[in-house]
Amino acid sequence: MQSLKNVSFKGKRVLIRVDFNVPLNPDFSISDDSRILAALPTIKLVMESGGKIILMSHLGRPKNGFETQFSLMHIVEHLSKVLCLDVIFVKDCIGSAVQNKISNLKDGSVLLLENLRFHPEEKSGDKAFSKQLANLADIYINDAFGTVHRAHASTSIIAQFFKNNKYFGLLLKKEIDNLILLSDAPKKPFTAIIGGAKISGKIDVICALLNKVNNLIIGGGMAYTFVKAMGGNIGNSLLEEDKIDLAKELIILAKQKNVNLYVPIDSINANNFDNNAETNQSKIKAIPDGFIGLDIGEKSIKCFVGVIENSKTIIWNGPMGCFEMSNFSNGTKKIAMAIISATENGAFSLIGGGDSLAAIKLFDFADRFSYISTGGGAMLEYLKEETLPGIKALLS
Ligand code: AMP
Repeated sequence: MQSLKNVSFKGKRVLIRVDFNVPLNPDFSISDDSRILAALPTIKLVMESGGKIILMSHLGRPKNGFETQFSLMHIVEHLSKVLCLDVIFVKDCIGSAVQNKISNLKDGSVLLLENLRFHPEEKSGDKAFSKQLANLADIYINDAFGTVHRAHASTSIIAQFFKNNKYFGLLLKKEIDNLILLSDAPKKPFTAIIGGAKISGKIDVICALLNKVNNLIIGGGMAYTFVKAMGGNIGNSLLEEDKIDLAKELIILAKQKNVNLYVPIDSINANNFDNNAETNQSKIKAIPDGFIGLDIGEKSIKCFVGVIENSKTIIWNGPMGCFEMSNFSNGTKKIAMAIISATENGAFSLIGGGDSLAAIKLFDFADRFSYISTGGGAMLEYLKEETLPGIKALLS
């Protein structure tokens, strides 16, 4: 992997795939600019070396062509501010208007292309579309860790058109360097904490983690399907009926692989999905009918904290409860605090996933973990596959 720092970009057109898929408020202002800030080191390095920078990204999930709410024009003002220069914007990502803007670019200037996903060919990984993108530049850099697990045109297919002039961006390299620490002989005990709403999106990774970790802690909405699989009464809590058998299989698999599987013991329940709802605390396997489990209880916290504080390697993806509502944020907060305490005592901790990040920001805990990954899905996929389409494409 050649370091970007040794490349001369002077006068070259440098196409950088960034992840500017940032959350927007209803007035289109940016509600969290972390992903933009994370891309700055690579952009600045190329700027300072005199490259002509062409930034491409997706934003949200447009269905069919242009939609104002997903336009990257909403990013331009803020990006200009953090880069201290006027970012030029073009209303497409391919075609003659784009070519014209690029031919007028000065060394060190920055052009932002419109949302790649306004063209369905981006997601389908269309080769001709990838070639059109590739024709815009002399050098390709992928710095979009958040989408490196997708074989899309701009994240993977495009790389074949840059034989010896494609590079890992600084952010992508940093993400991989940290994830490698988890695959190459991680210090034991190794604990994975998986939470969030549903098992469905995380099932493959849970299976893969059973080959790596000593302890697997399950929290959040997905825990209730496990409890149901164990024969518990979960009231009106989140249940994935069609995943009950799978949960049973995972429980057996964990035993076979000698992994300690921890599911919550108790639950904080509400009679409504509302911060001000009537609440009670019960054993998780005996939630009263009509109540929804929205957070883990004190006994679960005590048990999970004990496991975490004895761990030397920790990964965390997904909250323990509905942390967005203050009355159900305690479990997530206490687990975050335990990971911080383990980290201060020398453990390596890696946190990823939009909602875990939102939670630690809410609690003001950012910077207190060994590494915070910018891509939850990509992080989980990497743990499963130990490589990703966008990484493979840069290496081949
Ligand atoms: P995910 O995107 O799968 O990581 O899920 C994150 C979401 O799960 C957050 O918005 C949480 O509010 C939600 N969540 C966590 N615990 C529960 C629960 N017990 N019941 C319903 N939703 C939950």
